[in-house]
Amino acid sequence: MGALSRAQLSLDHRTPLGTLSQPEGRLDAGDPDHGATNRTASDPRIHSPRGGYAPMIPAKEALARLIEGNRRFVSDQAGKAAFARSTHPGELAGGQFPFAIILGCSDSRVPAEIVFDQGLGDLFVIRVAGNIVAPSQVGSVEFAAERFGTRLVVVLGHSSCGAILATLEELARPTEGQSPNLRSIVDRIRPSVEGLLEVEPRLDSESLVHRAVRANIRASASHLRHGSALLEQLIANDGLLVVGAEYSLELGKVDFFDGVPKR
Ligand SMILES: [Zn+2]
Repeated sequence: MGALSRAQLSLDHRTPLGTLSQPEGRLDAGDPDHGATNRTASDPRIHSPRGGYAPMIPAKEALARLIEGNRRFVSDQAGKAAFARSTHPGELAGGQFPFAIILGCSDSRVPAEIVFDQGLGDLFVIRVAGNIVAPSQVGSVEFAAERFGTRLVVVLGHSSCGAILATLEELARPTEGQSPNLRSIVDRIRPSVEGLLEVEPRLDSESLVHRAVRANIRASASHLRHGSALLEQLIANDGLLVVGAEYSLELGKVDFFDGVPKR
């Protein structure tokens, strides 16, 4: 087990406990049906930044954790669970093993750790207005997927997203003198919204915003799946999964609607 002792691992309550009681060399990462179908079956471990090995959490298991965490959040049990699993920051100083990568919007009402009821070290979060995908976002996802062996990526958009509304306004009434930095965000969202308007030009405004939010989430997820040779390779050979989800500001619920594998 290298420099990371079994005792140290047992202190990490987020490590799947089922993997710890097995004999050396049999650190299964849970149900073999959980993602990672082509991963080296004999040794699903990843090299840990602490100098030892950590079990990789398969994408489907990670997705189940997020769904369950959001269920706690919605049912107002959040906080209790996160508090019970609270980790002293020093415990993670030597390394991290986030089980999911979240590319979310910067909106103050959609903090990933809270809406999924997760704690320190659980999520690798990238936030940018409109959950757009530009090179630095792709690089951040690549970094976490390769460095930490994280196998689930979630593009997390939300209802009534201001970046989507700004893009729709810009399409309706182009403005002069807009900040080029702000424009760079709108320009990333524009193609999926324009495509939607071409297909369904008669949508009422509420439906249009709803559909545009989802089109933008799908576009970002697709970009991550196909815009990086490294991520494509991890998807094809190592069980990486990229899904799209929408958070409802009204209900607090996350709906995973894009790229979710059938049970
Ligand atoms: Zn937003």
